[in-house]
Amino acid sequence: MSKYDWAIEDIFSSIDEFYKTCEEIENKIDFSEFKGRLNDAKTFLSCMKKQEELARVLDKLSVYAMMMHDTDTSSSTYDALMSKVMSLGTKYSQSAAFIVPELTALPEETLKGYIENPLLKEYDYSLKGILKQKAHILSESEEKLLALASEPFSCFKEIFTKIDNADLPLTTITHKGEKIELSHGTYGLIMHGTDRALRQKCFKAYYKAYKDLLNTISSTYIGSVKKDVFFTRARKYNSTMERALIGEDVSPKVYEKLLDCVHKALPELHDYIAEKKKISKYKKFNMYDIYAPVCDGVELKLSYDNAFELVKEGLAPLGKDYIELLDKAKNERWISVYETKNKRSGAYSVCVYDTHPYVLLNYKETTHDVFTIAHELGHAMHSYYSNKNQPYSKADYRIFVAEVASTVNETLLIKHLLKKATDNKLKKYLSSYLLEMIRTTVFRQTMFSEFEEYSHSTVENNLPLTKDSMNEKYLSLNKAYYGNAVISNEEIAYEWARIPHFYRSFYVYKYATGLISALAIADRILTEGESAVNDYKKFLSSGGSDSPIELLKIAGVDLLTDVPYEKAFKTFSETLKNFKEYN
Ligand SMILES: [Zn+2]
Repeated sequence: MSKYDWAIEDIFSSIDEFYKTCEEIENKIDFSEFKGRLNDAKTFLSCMKKQEELARVLDKLSVYAMMMHDTDTSSSTYDALMSKVMSLGTKYSQSAAFIVPELTALPEETLKGYIENPLLKEYDYSLKGILKQKAHILSESEEKLLALASEPFSCFKEIFTKIDNADLPLTTITHKGEKIELSHGTYGLIMHGTDRALRQKCFKAYYKAYKDLLNTISSTYIGSVKKDVFFTRARKYNSTMERALIGEDVSPKVYEKLLDCVHKALPELHDYIAEKKKISKYKKFNMYDIYAPVCDGVELKLSYDNAFELVKEGLAPLGKDYIELLDKAKNERWISVYETKNKRSGAYSVCVYDTHPYVLLNYKETTHDVFTIAHELGHAMHSYYSNKNQPYSKADYRIFVAEVASTVNETLLIKHLLKKATDNKLKKYLSSYLLEMIRTTVFRQTMFSEFEEYSHSTVENNLPLTKDSMNEKYLSLNKAYYGNAVISNEEIAYEWARIPHFYRSFYVYKYATGLISALAIADRILTEGESAVNDYKKFLSSGGSDSPIELLKIAGVDLLTDVPYEKAFKTFSETLKNFKEYN
Protein backbone atom coordinates (compact mmCIF):
# COMPACT_ATOMS: atom_id res chain seq x y z
CA MET A 1 0.00 0.00 0.00
CA SER A 2 1.50 3.34 -1.03
CA LYS A 3 1.44 6.36 1.26
CA TYR A 4 -0.53 8.09 -1.48
CA ASP A 5 -3.42 5.61 -1.28
CA TRP A 6 -6.42 5.55 1.02
CA ALA A 7 -6.25 3.77 4.37
CA ILE A 8 -9.57 2.14 3.52
CA GLU A 9 -8.84 -0.54 6.15
CA ASP A 10 -9.73 2.10 8.77
CA ILE A 11 -13.37 1.36 7.84
CA PHE A 12 -13.23 -2.41 7.26
CA SER A 13 -10.18 -4.63 7.27
CA SER A 14 -11.40 -6.66 4.29
CA ILE A 15 -14.27 -7.33 1.93
CA ASP A 16 -15.09 -10.32 4.13
CA GLU A 17 -15.59 -8.02 7.08
CA PHE A 18 -17.81 -5.83 4.90
CA TYR A 19 -20.08 -8.77 4.04
CA LYS A 20 -20.05 -10.06 7.60
CA THR A 21 -21.24 -6.64 8.79
CA CYS A 22 -23.97 -6.62 6.13
CA GLU A 23 -25.21 -9.96 7.42
CA GLU A 24 -25.14 -8.75 11.01
CA ILE A 25 -27.34 -5.74 10.39
CA GLU A 26 -29.65 -7.10 7.73
CA ASN A 27 -32.03 -8.72 10.21
CA LYS A 28 -31.83 -5.80 12.61
CA ILE A 29 -33.34 -3.46 10.03
CA ASP A 30 -36.88 -3.50 11.33
CA PHE A 31 -38.59 -0.57 13.03
CA SER A 32 -42.05 -2.10 13.20
CA GLU A 33 -41.92 -2.38 17.02
CA PHE A 34 -42.08 1.46 17.19
CA LYS A 35 -44.93 1.96 14.75
CA GLY A 36 -47.84 3.82 16.31
CA ARG A 37 -45.91 4.28 19.57
CA LEU A 38 -43.85 7.41 18.96
CA ASN A 39 -46.19 9.47 21.15
CA ASP A 40 -44.25 8.21 24.15
CA ALA A 41 -40.92 9.97 24.88
CA LYS A 42 -39.16 6.78 25.96
CA THR A 43 -40.23 4.84 22.87
CA PHE A 44 -39.27 7.79 20.71
CA LEU A 45 -35.80 7.78 22.26
CA SER A 46 -35.35 4.03 21.74
CA CYS A 47 -36.46 4.41 18.14
CA MET A 48 -33.95 7.23 17.56
CA LYS A 49 -31.18 5.19 19.19
CA LYS A 50 -31.92 2.20 17.01
CA GLN A 51 -32.03 4.42 13.94
CA GLU A 52 -28.66 5.89 14.83
CA GLU A 53 -27.07 2.53 15.54
CA LEU A 54 -28.10 1.16 12.15
CA ALA A 55 -27.46 4.36 10.20
CA ARG A 56 -23.91 4.55 11.51
CA VAL A 57 -23.16 1.06 10.26
CA LEU A 58 -24.89 1.76 6.94
CA ASP A 59 -22.76 4.90 6.56
CA LYS A 60 -19.62 2.84 6.94
CA LEU A 61 -20.86 0.22 4.50
CA SER A 62 -21.89 2.72 1.85
CA VAL A 63 -18.74 4.83 2.05
CA TYR A 64 -16.58 1.71 1.94
CA ALA A 65 -18.42 0.41 -1.13
CA MET A 66 -18.27 3.80 -2.87
CA MET A 67 -14.57 4.24 -2.18
CA MET A 68 -13.69 0.74 -3.36
CA HIS A 69 -15.76 1.29 -6.49
CA ASP A 70 -14.13 4.67 -7.15
CA THR A 71 -10.62 3.26 -7.00
CA ASP A 72 -11.53 0.81 -9.78
CA THR A 73 -14.78 1.67 -11.53
CA SER A 74 -14.45 -1.34 -13.85
CA SER A 75 -14.49 -3.95 -11.08
CA SER A 76 -17.62 -6.06 -10.81
CA THR A 77 -16.55 -7.17 -7.32
CA TYR A 78 -16.83 -3.55 -6.20
CA ASP A 79 -20.08 -3.06 -8.13
CA ALA A 80 -21.48 -5.92 -6.08
CA LEU A 81 -20.56 -4.09 -2.86
CA MET A 82 -22.52 -1.09 -4.09
CA SER A 83 -25.61 -3.16 -4.92
CA LYS A 84 -25.47 -4.87 -1.55
CA VAL A 85 -25.46 -1.51 0.27
CA MET A 86 -28.18 -0.22 -1.98
CA SER A 87 -30.50 -3.08 -1.09
CA LEU A 88 -29.81 -2.62 2.64
CA GLY A 89 -30.45 1.12 2.23
CA THR A 90 -33.79 0.46 0.54
CA LYS A 91 -34.78 -1.94 3.30
CA TYR A 92 -33.81 0.66 5.89
CA SER A 93 -35.72 3.54 4.29
CA GLN A 94 -38.81 1.42 3.69
CA SER A 95 -38.83 0.21 7.26
CA ALA A 96 -38.23 3.70 8.68
CA ALA A 97 -40.57 5.49 6.25
CA PHE A 98 -43.34 5.89 8.84
CA ILE A 99 -41.20 7.73 11.39
CA VAL A 100 -41.25 11.30 10.06
CA PRO A 101 -44.97 11.27 9.08
CA GLU A 102 -45.87 9.77 12.46
CA LEU A 103 -43.85 12.41 14.30
CA THR A 104 -45.34 15.17 12.18
CA ALA A 105 -48.81 13.93 13.08
CA LEU A 106 -48.11 14.18 16.82
CA PRO A 107 -49.94 16.98 18.66
CA GLU A 108 -48.00 20.24 18.88
CA GLU A 109 -47.77 19.96 22.69
CA THR A 110 -46.16 16.53 22.47
CA LEU A 111 -43.54 17.79 20.01
CA LYS A 112 -42.88 20.88 22.14
CA GLY A 113 -42.53 18.61 25.17
CA TYR A 114 -39.95 16.49 23.33
CA ILE A 115 -38.02 19.62 22.30
CA GLU A 116 -37.87 20.78 25.94
CA ASN A 117 -37.04 17.31 27.29
CA PRO A 118 -33.35 17.27 28.36
CA LEU A 119 -33.14 13.52 27.63
CA LEU A 120 -33.97 14.23 23.99
CA LYS A 121 -31.53 17.16 23.57
CA GLU A 122 -29.74 15.46 20.66
CA TYR A 123 -32.94 15.60 18.62
CA ASP A 124 -34.23 19.08 19.48
CA TYR A 125 -33.12 20.68 16.21
CA SER A 126 -34.65 18.01 13.98
CA LEU A 127 -37.83 18.06 16.08
CA LYS A 128 -38.04 21.84 15.65
CA GLY A 129 -37.88 21.21 11.90
CA ILE A 130 -40.75 18.74 12.14
CA LEU A 131 -42.77 21.23 14.18
CA LYS A 132 -42.22 23.90 11.50
CA GLN A 133 -43.28 21.52 8.72
CA LYS A 134 -46.42 20.62 10.62
CA ALA A 135 -48.35 23.64 9.38
CA HIS A 136 -47.78 22.44 5.83
CA ILE A 137 -48.77 18.82 6.29
CA LEU A 138 -52.19 17.88 4.97
CA SER A 139 -54.67 15.23 5.95
CA GLU A 140 -53.66 11.60 5.54
CA SER A 141 -55.62 11.08 2.35
CA GLU A 142 -54.34 14.33 0.85
CA GLU A 143 -50.79 13.35 1.72
CA LYS A 144 -51.36 10.01 -0.01
CA LEU A 145 -52.47 11.82 -3.14
CA LEU A 146 -49.42 14.07 -3.07
CA ALA A 147 -47.16 11.07 -2.65
CA LEU A 148 -48.86 9.41 -5.63
CA ALA A 149 -48.35 12.55 -7.70
CA SER A 150 -44.66 12.84 -6.98
CA GLU A 151 -43.62 10.08 -9.35
CA PRO A 152 -45.35 11.34 -12.50
CA PHE A 153 -44.27 14.88 -11.54
CA SER A 154 -40.64 13.85 -11.57
CA CYS A 155 -40.91 13.40 -15.34
CA PHE A 156 -39.99 17.00 -16.24
CA LYS A 157 -36.47 16.61 -14.98
CA GLU A 158 -36.22 13.26 -16.72
CA ILE A 159 -37.49 14.66 -20.00
CA PHE A 160 -35.00 17.50 -19.88
CA THR A 161 -32.14 15.11 -19.10
CA LYS A 162 -33.15 12.97 -22.09
CA ILE A 163 -33.36 16.01 -24.38
CA ASP A 164 -30.07 17.40 -23.15
CA ASN A 165 -28.10 14.18 -23.26
CA ALA A 166 -29.67 12.21 -26.07
CA ASP A 167 -31.89 14.21 -28.40
CA LEU A 168 -30.15 17.58 -28.62
CA PRO A 169 -29.24 18.02 -32.31
CA LEU A 170 -25.60 18.98 -31.71
CA THR A 171 -23.81 19.13 -35.04
CA THR A 172 -20.26 18.75 -36.20
CA ILE A 173 -18.42 21.97 -36.89
CA THR A 174 -15.61 22.33 -39.38
CA HIS A 175 -12.72 24.47 -38.32
CA LYS A 176 -9.41 24.88 -40.16
CA GLY A 177 -10.20 21.78 -42.19
CA GLU A 178 -10.84 19.76 -39.06
CA LYS A 179 -14.18 18.30 -38.05
CA ILE A 180 -15.09 18.82 -34.41
CA GLU A 181 -17.99 16.97 -32.91
CA LEU A 182 -19.88 19.20 -30.49
CA SER A 183 -20.76 17.95 -27.02
CA HIS A 184 -21.31 19.65 -23.66
CA GLY A 185 -17.70 18.83 -22.83
CA THR A 186 -16.15 20.20 -26.02
CA TYR A 187 -18.34 23.30 -25.77
CA GLY A 188 -16.87 24.12 -22.36
CA LEU A 189 -13.31 23.48 -23.52
CA ILE A 190 -13.68 25.60 -26.65
CA MET A 191 -15.29 28.50 -24.75
CA HIS A 192 -12.31 28.55 -22.38
CA GLY A 193 -9.91 28.35 -25.33
CA THR A 194 -7.95 31.01 -27.21
CA ASP A 195 -9.24 30.41 -30.76
CA ARG A 196 -11.82 33.13 -31.22
CA ALA A 197 -13.18 32.03 -34.61
CA LEU A 198 -13.72 28.55 -33.20
CA ARG A 199 -15.46 29.95 -30.12
CA GLN A 200 -17.84 31.92 -32.32
CA LYS A 201 -18.69 28.93 -34.53
CA CYS A 202 -19.13 26.70 -31.52
CA PHE A 203 -21.31 29.22 -29.66
CA LYS A 204 -23.61 29.64 -32.64
CA ALA A 205 -23.90 25.91 -33.35
CA TYR A 206 -24.44 25.05 -29.70
CA TYR A 207 -27.24 27.54 -29.14
CA LYS A 208 -28.80 26.65 -32.49
CA ALA A 209 -29.34 23.15 -31.12
CA TYR A 210 -31.25 24.56 -28.13
CA LYS A 211 -33.17 26.97 -30.33
CA ASP A 212 -34.25 24.09 -32.57
CA LEU A 213 -35.78 22.31 -29.58
CA LEU A 214 -37.01 25.43 -27.82
CA ASN A 215 -40.72 24.56 -28.09
CA THR A 216 -40.15 21.21 -26.42
CA ILE A 217 -37.75 22.56 -23.79
CA SER A 218 -40.06 25.49 -22.97
CA SER A 219 -43.02 23.19 -22.44
CA THR A 220 -40.89 20.93 -20.27
CA TYR A 221 -39.60 23.78 -18.13
CA ILE A 222 -43.01 25.46 -17.83
CA GLY A 223 -44.43 22.09 -16.78
CA SER A 224 -41.76 21.82 -14.14
CA VAL A 225 -42.50 25.32 -12.80
CA LYS A 226 -46.22 24.52 -12.68
CA LYS A 227 -45.45 21.33 -10.79
CA ASP A 228 -43.46 23.40 -8.24
CA VAL A 229 -46.34 25.85 -7.89
CA PHE A 230 -48.80 22.97 -7.48
CA PHE A 231 -46.88 21.69 -4.43
CA THR A 232 -46.45 25.24 -3.12
CA ARG A 233 -50.20 25.82 -3.23
CA ALA A 234 -51.08 22.36 -1.97
CA ARG A 235 -48.80 22.84 1.03
CA LYS A 236 -50.00 26.41 1.63
CA TYR A 237 -46.76 28.30 1.19
CA ASN A 238 -46.75 31.88 -0.08
CA SER A 239 -44.28 31.13 -2.84
CA THR A 240 -42.07 28.37 -4.20
CA MET A 241 -39.04 30.37 -3.15
CA GLU A 242 -40.35 30.48 0.42
CA ARG A 243 -41.03 26.73 0.35
CA ALA A 244 -37.52 25.98 -0.90
CA LEU A 245 -35.78 28.25 1.60
CA ILE A 246 -37.84 27.16 4.58
CA GLY A 247 -36.92 23.59 3.65
CA GLU A 248 -33.29 24.57 4.24
CA ASP A 249 -34.28 26.47 7.41
CA VAL A 250 -33.25 29.74 5.76
CA SER A 251 -35.34 32.90 5.90
CA PRO A 252 -36.58 34.11 2.48
CA LYS A 253 -35.19 37.49 3.56
CA VAL A 254 -31.70 36.10 2.84
CA TYR A 255 -32.69 35.69 -0.79
CA GLU A 256 -33.93 39.29 -0.99
CA LYS A 257 -30.75 40.53 0.67
CA LEU A 258 -28.61 38.60 -1.80
CA LEU A 259 -30.38 40.10 -4.79
CA ASP A 260 -30.31 43.57 -3.35
CA CYS A 261 -26.57 43.49 -2.58
CA VAL A 262 -25.62 41.83 -5.88
CA HIS A 263 -27.55 44.52 -7.77
CA LYS A 264 -25.61 47.19 -5.92
CA ALA A 265 -22.36 45.49 -6.94
CA LEU A 266 -23.21 45.12 -10.64
CA PRO A 267 -21.16 48.20 -11.67
CA GLU A 268 -18.09 46.28 -10.41
CA LEU A 269 -18.94 43.36 -12.67
CA HIS A 270 -19.45 45.74 -15.61
CA ASP A 271 -16.04 47.20 -14.88
CA TYR A 272 -14.49 43.73 -14.88
CA ILE A 273 -16.11 42.82 -18.19
CA ALA A 274 -14.92 46.14 -19.67
CA GLU A 275 -11.39 45.28 -18.51
CA LYS A 276 -11.65 41.88 -20.17
CA LYS A 277 -12.72 43.59 -23.37
CA LYS A 278 -9.82 46.03 -23.14
CA ILE A 279 -7.29 43.22 -22.70
CA SER A 280 -8.79 41.26 -25.60
CA LYS A 281 -8.33 44.26 -27.93
CA TYR A 282 -11.48 43.12 -29.77
CA LYS A 283 -13.51 45.93 -31.24
CA LYS A 284 -16.67 44.13 -30.24
CA PHE A 285 -16.74 41.85 -27.23
CA ASN A 286 -19.26 39.03 -27.47
CA MET A 287 -20.74 36.54 -25.03
CA TYR A 288 -18.47 33.88 -26.57
CA ASP A 289 -15.45 35.94 -25.49
CA ILE A 290 -16.39 36.02 -21.82
CA TYR A 291 -14.80 32.71 -20.81
CA ALA A 292 -11.66 33.11 -22.90
CA PRO A 293 -8.48 33.48 -20.86
CA VAL A 294 -7.40 37.08 -20.33
CA CYS A 295 -3.87 36.15 -19.36
CA ASP A 296 -1.49 33.28 -19.84
CA GLY A 297 -1.97 30.35 -17.54
CA VAL A 298 0.90 30.00 -15.09
CA GLU A 299 1.43 26.48 -13.88
CA LEU A 300 3.13 26.16 -10.52
CA LYS A 301 4.30 22.65 -11.56
CA LEU A 302 4.67 21.38 -8.01
CA SER A 303 5.08 17.80 -6.94
CA TYR A 304 2.24 16.69 -4.67
CA ASP A 305 4.41 16.89 -1.56
CA ASN A 306 5.50 20.42 -2.40
CA ALA A 307 1.95 21.43 -3.31
CA PHE A 308 0.79 20.13 0.06
CA GLU A 309 3.44 22.21 1.85
CA LEU A 310 2.30 25.27 -0.08
CA VAL A 311 -1.32 24.63 0.92
CA LYS A 312 -0.20 24.39 4.55
CA GLU A 313 1.62 27.73 4.20
CA GLY A 314 -1.50 29.33 2.77
CA LEU A 315 -3.70 27.95 5.53
CA ALA A 316 -1.28 28.85 8.33
CA PRO A 317 -3.58 31.70 9.50
CA LEU A 318 -6.00 28.95 10.64
CA GLY A 319 -3.61 28.02 13.43
CA LYS A 320 -1.25 25.26 14.47
CA ASP A 321 -3.92 22.70 15.32
CA TYR A 322 -5.51 23.05 11.88
CA ILE A 323 -2.13 22.54 10.19
CA GLU A 324 -1.44 19.52 12.38
CA LEU A 325 -4.73 18.05 11.22
CA LEU A 326 -3.70 18.55 7.61
CA ASP A 327 -0.49 16.64 8.33
CA LYS A 328 -2.51 13.93 10.03
CA ALA A 329 -4.73 13.65 6.94
CA LYS A 330 -1.66 13.26 4.74
CA ASN A 331 0.38 10.97 6.95
CA GLU A 332 -2.51 8.74 8.02
CA ARG A 333 -3.57 8.32 4.41
CA TRP A 334 -6.96 9.98 4.31
CA ILE A 335 -6.15 11.02 0.74
CA SER A 336 -6.07 9.04 -2.51
CA VAL A 337 -3.68 11.23 -4.49
CA TYR A 338 -2.86 10.08 -7.99
CA GLU A 339 -4.77 9.01 -11.05
CA THR A 340 -4.69 5.25 -11.62
CA LYS A 341 -6.30 3.05 -14.24
CA ASN A 342 -10.12 3.08 -13.95
CA LYS A 343 -10.08 5.42 -10.94
CA ARG A 344 -13.02 7.83 -10.78
CA SER A 345 -12.12 11.23 -12.23
CA GLY A 346 -12.40 14.57 -10.44
CA ALA A 347 -12.13 15.18 -6.72
CA TYR A 348 -14.32 14.90 -3.64
CA SER A 349 -14.34 14.58 0.11
CA VAL A 350 -16.47 12.10 2.02
CA CYS A 351 -16.75 11.40 5.70
CA VAL A 352 -17.76 8.57 7.95
CA TYR A 353 -18.80 9.59 11.45
CA ASP A 354 -17.01 6.65 13.05
CA THR A 355 -13.68 6.92 11.25
CA HIS A 356 -12.34 10.08 9.63
CA PRO A 357 -12.90 11.97 6.40
CA TYR A 358 -11.41 10.78 3.12
CA VAL A 359 -10.41 12.81 0.06
CA LEU A 360 -10.19 11.64 -3.54
CA LEU A 361 -7.87 13.54 -5.87
CA ASN A 362 -6.40 12.94 -9.30
CA TYR A 363 -3.40 15.14 -8.69
CA LYS A 364 -1.53 16.55 -11.67
CA GLU A 365 1.11 19.26 -11.42
CA THR A 366 -1.17 22.15 -12.33
CA THR A 367 -2.00 25.30 -10.37
CA HIS A 368 -5.66 24.33 -10.40
CA ASP A 369 -4.89 21.05 -8.66
CA VAL A 370 -3.06 22.86 -5.86
CA PHE A 371 -6.32 24.72 -5.22
CA THR A 372 -8.20 21.43 -5.37
CA ILE A 373 -6.09 20.11 -2.47
CA ALA A 374 -7.00 23.19 -0.39
CA HIS A 375 -10.67 22.96 -1.44
CA GLU A 376 -11.23 19.27 -0.66
CA LEU A 377 -9.31 19.46 2.61
CA GLY A 378 -11.64 22.31 3.56
CA HIS A 379 -14.59 19.93 3.24
CA ALA A 380 -12.70 17.21 5.08
CA MET A 381 -11.79 19.47 8.03
CA HIS A 382 -15.36 20.78 8.28
CA SER A 383 -16.53 17.17 8.64
CA TYR A 384 -13.72 16.32 11.03
CA TYR A 385 -14.47 19.20 13.42
CA SER A 386 -18.24 18.63 13.25
CA ASN A 387 -17.96 14.89 13.83
CA LYS A 388 -15.64 15.42 16.78
CA ASN A 389 -17.93 17.96 18.44
CA GLN A 390 -21.47 16.97 17.59
CA PRO A 391 -23.61 13.93 18.33
CA TYR A 392 -24.38 11.84 15.26
CA SER A 393 -27.83 13.41 14.91
CA LYS A 394 -26.37 16.91 14.54
CA ALA A 395 -23.06 16.27 12.82
CA ASP A 396 -24.05 16.51 9.18
CA TYR A 397 -23.90 20.05 7.83
CA ARG A 398 -26.44 21.36 5.38
CA ILE A 399 -25.84 22.05 1.69
CA PHE A 400 -26.32 25.74 2.43
CA VAL A 401 -22.98 25.85 4.28
CA ALA A 402 -21.30 22.94 2.48
CA GLU A 403 -19.08 25.04 0.23
CA VAL A 404 -18.04 27.57 2.88
CA ALA A 405 -15.03 25.77 4.37
CA SER A 406 -13.73 24.67 0.96
CA THR A 407 -13.80 28.18 -0.50
CA VAL A 408 -12.43 29.80 2.68
CA ASN A 409 -9.37 27.60 2.07
CA GLU A 410 -9.13 28.50 -1.60
CA THR A 411 -9.41 32.21 -0.81
CA LEU A 412 -6.76 32.06 1.93
CA LEU A 413 -4.43 30.19 -0.42
CA ILE A 414 -4.91 32.63 -3.30
CA LYS A 415 -4.37 35.60 -1.02
CA HIS A 416 -1.21 34.00 0.38
CA LEU A 417 0.15 33.27 -3.10
CA LEU A 418 -0.65 36.79 -4.27
CA LYS A 419 1.28 38.20 -1.34
CA LYS A 420 4.22 35.88 -1.90
CA ALA A 421 4.46 36.10 -5.70
CA THR A 422 7.03 38.40 -7.26
CA ASP A 423 6.20 37.64 -10.86
CA ASN A 424 3.43 39.85 -12.26
CA LYS A 425 2.38 37.14 -14.70
CA LEU A 426 1.59 34.82 -11.80
CA LYS A 427 -0.13 37.60 -9.87
CA LYS A 428 -2.29 38.39 -12.88
CA TYR A 429 -3.22 34.74 -13.29
CA LEU A 430 -4.07 34.30 -9.61
CA SER A 431 -6.25 37.41 -9.47
CA SER A 432 -7.99 36.34 -12.64
CA TYR A 433 -8.68 32.97 -10.95
CA LEU A 434 -10.30 34.71 -7.97
CA LEU A 435 -12.26 37.16 -10.14
CA GLU A 436 -13.63 34.35 -12.29
CA MET A 437 -14.57 32.36 -9.20
CA ILE A 438 -16.62 35.31 -7.92
CA ARG A 439 -18.09 36.09 -11.33
CA THR A 440 -19.29 32.55 -11.99
CA THR A 441 -20.30 31.65 -8.43
CA VAL A 442 -21.75 34.85 -7.03
CA PHE A 443 -22.94 36.91 -9.99
CA ARG A 444 -23.90 34.18 -12.44
CA GLN A 445 -25.71 31.98 -9.91
CA THR A 446 -27.61 34.99 -8.55
CA MET A 447 -28.69 35.82 -12.09
CA PHE A 448 -29.96 32.26 -12.42
CA SER A 449 -31.90 32.60 -9.17
CA GLU A 450 -33.44 35.78 -10.43
CA PHE A 451 -34.64 33.97 -13.53
CA GLU A 452 -36.14 31.20 -11.37
CA GLU A 453 -37.90 33.77 -9.26
CA TYR A 454 -39.32 35.35 -12.41
CA SER A 455 -40.64 32.09 -13.85
CA HIS A 456 -42.17 30.91 -10.59
CA SER A 457 -43.74 34.21 -9.57
CA THR A 458 -45.21 34.59 -13.06
CA VAL A 459 -47.07 31.30 -12.69
CA GLU A 460 -47.91 32.04 -9.04
CA ASN A 461 -49.52 35.32 -10.13
CA ASN A 462 -51.50 33.51 -12.84
CA LEU A 463 -49.69 35.38 -15.60
CA PRO A 464 -48.67 33.67 -18.85
CA LEU A 465 -45.19 32.14 -18.86
CA THR A 466 -44.10 31.52 -22.44
CA LYS A 467 -41.06 30.73 -24.50
CA ASP A 468 -40.87 34.34 -25.67
CA SER A 469 -41.37 35.89 -22.25
CA MET A 470 -38.60 33.69 -20.84
CA ASN A 471 -36.19 34.55 -23.65
CA GLU A 472 -36.92 38.21 -23.19
CA LYS A 473 -36.46 38.06 -19.44
CA TYR A 474 -33.22 36.11 -19.71
CA LEU A 475 -31.77 38.49 -22.28
CA SER A 476 -32.62 41.50 -20.14
CA LEU A 477 -31.03 39.85 -17.09
CA ASN A 478 -27.92 39.10 -19.13
CA LYS A 479 -27.70 42.76 -20.20
CA ALA A 480 -28.24 44.03 -16.68
CA TYR A 481 -25.58 41.71 -15.22
CA TYR A 482 -22.85 41.95 -17.83
CA GLY A 483 -23.31 45.59 -18.86
CA ASN A 484 -22.63 47.46 -22.06
CA ALA A 485 -19.05 46.38 -22.69
CA VAL A 486 -20.27 43.05 -24.02
CA ILE A 487 -22.86 42.40 -26.70
CA SER A 488 -25.72 40.34 -25.33
CA ASN A 489 -25.92 38.17 -28.44
CA GLU A 490 -29.32 36.90 -29.54
CA GLU A 491 -28.28 33.32 -28.72
CA ILE A 492 -27.74 34.07 -25.05
CA ALA A 493 -31.49 34.58 -24.67
CA TYR A 494 -31.79 30.76 -24.84
CA GLU A 495 -29.18 30.06 -22.19
CA TRP A 496 -31.88 29.36 -19.60
CA ALA A 497 -32.92 26.40 -21.76
CA ARG A 498 -29.65 24.57 -21.11
CA ILE A 499 -29.37 24.85 -17.31
CA PRO A 500 -30.08 21.45 -15.67
CA HIS A 501 -30.18 23.05 -12.20
CA PHE A 502 -33.43 24.82 -13.12
CA TYR A 503 -35.16 21.47 -12.60
CA ARG A 504 -34.17 21.64 -8.96
CA SER A 505 -35.54 25.08 -8.26
CA PHE A 506 -34.04 27.60 -5.87
CA TYR A 507 -30.91 25.58 -5.35
CA VAL A 508 -28.23 27.67 -7.08
CA TYR A 509 -28.54 30.78 -4.87
CA LYS A 510 -26.73 28.72 -2.22
CA TYR A 511 -23.58 28.72 -4.33
CA ALA A 512 -23.64 32.52 -4.19
CA THR A 513 -24.33 32.85 -0.46
CA GLY A 514 -21.73 30.13 0.22
CA LEU A 515 -18.92 32.01 -1.51
CA ILE A 516 -20.02 35.35 -0.08
CA SER A 517 -19.81 33.83 3.42
CA ALA A 518 -16.39 32.33 2.65
CA LEU A 519 -14.98 35.61 1.32
CA ALA A 520 -16.27 37.45 4.39
CA ILE A 521 -14.79 34.82 6.73
CA ALA A 522 -11.40 34.83 4.95
CA ASP A 523 -11.37 38.63 5.17
CA ARG A 524 -12.10 38.48 8.91
CA ILE A 525 -9.42 35.85 9.51
CA LEU A 526 -6.78 37.92 7.74
CA THR A 527 -7.71 41.21 9.36
CA GLU A 528 -8.83 40.19 12.85
CA GLY A 529 -6.61 37.15 13.47
CA GLU A 530 -7.07 34.84 16.43
CA SER A 531 -10.57 35.80 17.58
CA ALA A 532 -11.89 35.36 14.03
CA VAL A 533 -10.08 32.01 13.72
CA ASN A 534 -11.61 30.80 16.99
CA ASP A 535 -15.08 31.83 15.84
CA TYR A 536 -14.51 30.09 12.54
CA LYS A 537 -13.49 26.85 14.27
CA LYS A 538 -16.64 26.99 16.39
CA PHE A 539 -18.58 27.23 13.14
CA LEU A 540 -16.64 24.28 11.67
CA SER A 541 -17.51 22.32 14.82
CA SER A 542 -21.20 23.13 14.65
CA GLY A 543 -22.23 20.59 11.97
CA GLY A 544 -25.97 20.78 11.40
CA SER A 545 -26.91 21.72 14.95
CA ASP A 546 -28.97 24.80 14.06
CA SER A 547 -30.25 26.87 11.14
CA PRO A 548 -27.38 27.55 8.70
CA ILE A 549 -27.95 31.30 9.11
CA GLU A 550 -27.48 31.01 12.89
CA LEU A 551 -24.40 28.83 12.46
CA LEU A 552 -22.78 31.31 10.08
CA LYS A 553 -23.34 34.03 12.68
CA ILE A 554 -20.93 32.10 14.93
CA ALA A 555 -18.26 32.74 12.29
CA GLY A 556 -19.21 36.43 12.25
CA VAL A 557 -21.31 36.27 9.08
CA ASP A 558 -24.86 37.59 9.29
CA LEU A 559 -26.40 37.10 5.85
CA LEU A 560 -29.39 39.23 6.84
CA THR A 561 -27.17 42.32 6.98
CA ASP A 562 -25.16 44.03 4.22
CA VAL A 563 -21.80 43.40 5.95
CA PRO A 564 -20.72 40.02 4.47
CA TYR A 565 -21.84 41.04 0.99
CA GLU A 566 -19.90 44.29 1.23
CA LYS A 567 -16.81 42.40 2.40
CA ALA A 568 -17.12 39.94 -0.47
CA PHE A 569 -17.53 42.65 -3.08
CA LYS A 570 -14.67 44.61 -1.53
CA THR A 571 -12.48 41.55 -2.23
CA PHE A 572 -13.78 41.58 -5.80
CA SER A 573 -13.08 45.28 -6.37
CA GLU A 574 -9.66 45.22 -4.70
CA THR A 575 -8.66 42.17 -6.72
CA LEU A 576 -9.89 43.87 -9.88
CA LYS A 577 -7.94 47.03 -9.08
CA ASN A 578 -4.73 45.04 -8.65
CA PHE A 579 -5.52 42.87 -11.67
CA LYS A 580 -5.56 46.00 -13.84
CA GLU A 581 -2.12 46.99 -12.56
CA TYR A 582 -0.23 43.70 -13.03
CA ASN A 583 1.35 44.06 -16.43
ZN1 LIG B 1 -16.66 21.56 -2.97
